[in-house]
Amino acid sequence: MPELPEVQAHAERLTDAFAGRVLVQFRPLTFTALRTVQPAPEAAYGEALTDVGRRGKYLLLHFPSVTFAVHLMQGGRLLVDQKQSAKPRGGQARFVFDEGPALLLTEAGTERRAGVWCLDPARELTTPPLDKLGPEPADLDPAALAARFAAHPMRLHGFLRDQRAIAGLGRRLANEVCHRARVSPFANTKRLGVEGAETVLAAIRETVAEGLAYERTRADMSSSADRPGGVHGRTGEPCPVCADTIRAVEYSGYTVCYCPTCQTGGKVLADNTTSRFLR
Ligand SMILES: [Zn+2]
Repeated sequence: MPELPEVQAHAERLTDAFAGRVLVQFRPLTFTALRTVQPAPEAAYGEALTDVGRRGKYLLLHFPSVTFAVHLMQGGRLLVDQKQSAKPRGGQARFVFDEGPALLLTEAGTERRAGVWCLDPARELTTPPLDKLGPEPADLDPAALAARFAAHPMRLHGFLRDQRAIAGLGRRLANEVCHRARVSPFANTKRLGVEGAETVLAAIRETVAEGLAYERTRADMSSSADRPGGVHGRTGEPCPVCADTIRAVEYSGYTVCYCPTCQTGGKVLADNTTSRFLR
C-alpha cells in the first residue's frame, strides 16, 4: 500500500502536472467509486485545480468549491490518462480537464476499496473520512507522541498502523520504524514513555524522509519492492545493521518483519498462526 512518502511525492508530481487545469467532468466508473452525496462534484466544474495536497494516506485535489479526497488503499493508483478509453482496466473514476490528459483512478484486483470523497473545502479536515485521522508525524513532538502512546495502549506495530493514532504510516513503515528504533514490534506503547517516544519519533522522521527522498527521484509511484528499507519484505535475509537473520510473524493481512538481535534481545517472537492453534 502506498504510505506517507509515496502519497506525498505523488501529490507533488500531480500538482506540478495539473495545477491550474480546469475541471470539466468527474466521472465515477463504478457504483462504489464516489462515497459522498454532498457537495456534488459538479460544483467544481469550470474551476481550476489549486493543488494536490495530502492528509494521512489521502490525496486531496483542491478546487475552490470542492476537495476531492482520494484513497488508493492497497492497489489503487491515480494515473495520468492520455487515452481516456471507454472501459479502462480497473477504472474507478476519471477527472476530465478542459485540455490535456485526464486523471484516472484505477484499482488492481477485485476488492473495490479505493474511492473518492467530495468534501466542503472549508471543513475538509473535520468531516469524514479525514476527521478521525491522528496527527501527521511532522506535527508531533516527543511529549505529544508519548501522550498518544498512553492514550492508545497497544503493540507498537499496531499503533503505527492505526490511522487514528498517527496518520500516514502502514505495514511497511511500521516494520521499518520499529527496526530503526531498535524496539520490538510487540512492545506495549504504554510502557515506552517519553524516552521511547523520542526514539520512535526520530525513527519515524528518518524512515519517512528516506522514503520521500527516494520517491521524489521517480517519475511515477514506486512499487513496494523498490522502496528503501532494512527489514520489510526481507524475511530470511541478513539484517543490514547486525547481519542476524530477519524474522517474520505472519498475520492474515500483513507480515511483521523484525531483527531479533536489534529489537528483541535475540528473542524470537511467537508466530501468531502457530500459537493460536496451541492455545
Ligand atoms: Zn539487526
